[in-house]
Amino acid sequence: MRNIIANVAGLEIGRGLPVAIQTMCNCNTNDIEAAVAQCNAMRDAGAQLIRLTTQGVREVESLRQIKNILRQQGNMVPLVADVHFSSDVAIVAAEVADKVRINPGNFATEHEKAQRDFKRFIEVCKEHNTAVRIGINHGSLGKRITELYGNTAQGMKEAMVEWVEMCIAEDFYNVVLSLKASNTLVMVEAYRLLNRWMEEQGVIFPLHLGVTEAGNGDMGRIKSAAAIATLLRDGIGDTIRVSLTESPVNELPVAEKIVRFFSEQEQQQAGAESWEDLIINIACTYGPDLLDRKIDDFDLDATCKGEKVSAEALQDIKDNLLQATRRRFTKCEYVACPGCGRTLYNLEETFNEVKRRTSHLSGYCIAVMGCIVNGPGEMADADYGYVGEGKGKVSIYRGKEAVRRSVPQEEAIDALLELIENDQKNK
Ligand code: SF4
Repeated sequence: MRNIIANVAGLEIGRGLPVAIQTMCNCNTNDIEAAVAQCNAMRDAGAQLIRLTTQGVREVESLRQIKNILRQQGNMVPLVADVHFSSDVAIVAAEVADKVRINPGNFATEHEKAQRDFKRFIEVCKEHNTAVRIGINHGSLGKRITELYGNTAQGMKEAMVEWVEMCIAEDFYNVVLSLKASNTLVMVEAYRLLNRWMEEQGVIFPLHLGVTEAGNGDMGRIKSAAAIATLLRDGIGDTIRVSLTESPVNELPVAEKIVRFFSEQEQQQAGAESWEDLIINIACTYGPDLLDRKIDDFDLDATCKGEKVSAEALQDIKDNLLQATRRRFTKCEYVACPGCGRTLYNLEETFNEVKRRTSHLSGYCIAVMGCIVNGPGEMADADYGYVGEGKGKVSIYRGKEAVRRSVPQEEAIDALLELIENDQKNK
């Protein structure tokens, strides 16, 4: 079995090594001062890798400046450029960043062109010793793959295999792979399928784990912890990102606690030192067996900071975990991206307001997404969506259809509620 170790500016990622934790800036990459401040705060919170959005060449140039400033200040955390759609941008980014995240299926609508672009990109990465993450998301599978395999975990794995085989053919191994989804079942299945395929091939690439659009608060933490723990328990996963619709700095202690849970085998929830410790320990303890349908329910009894946790609070954790593992839905389900340099509105505040006004809608799934470029594709199976268009405008979605466009931001939550209420009346 060939065990591939990726090297990102000295940070080694791979099977048998400690799981690395990472996060992503949510500020505008062209706001150099804000990005530098955020990267330093992330480093202080334990980030071992930091990703920034580089949607265009201008952002890559900003990344170069950010990197120079950080290195001068002694912040040596490797930086990852996040490129989704443009192979030209990915190639420029490969000369600047320590690692480039791409979704190669999005490089071009024509598959052969995407393959040619990918080859060019790999050549530049080799030349500059740049690592690559091939990041395929459930919400953005191409038409060709969905026609062949459906919008499924199998489709995600098959999409990945095509690009991994190209890396092997090009003798390029500085590669990490990810197959993220917001649906925890799909996410776990996709990684397991890919892992099985790698074992059959006799080559194990490092895997980056994460649940996309997990939302925020307790549910965001519980969803991420349950799914990531399920895979870590199998020995799958070499670097993790917990995506929260909050300050990205908040993601790091959560990721660190999940990793610690496995490294120290803290497999018990009693005696937690903080609320966050408590919910993560519970999610890591029971989440994997719930997701794998080995258990249907569990009893909870816990203390937090020396105090007995109330039955109501424990019930709420349990409801969140049962919903996160898709076993029992008792609340409105939310899909919300963490935001990034593409987000042009206050995502966290808006998401909290949407949650406040829709929490009674149990049985529905509502998405709040930062941008119109990736948002509609990534909002999975949401019934309704609030998607930022930029410049104070919002699109309101019913399923995959934008039913209202360019709604002024201050009217957008009302418009979303109005749409849902009208649909309910007309049912
Ligand atoms: S959907 Fe959210 S996280 Fe994804 S690119 Fe758009 S703003 Fe960034």
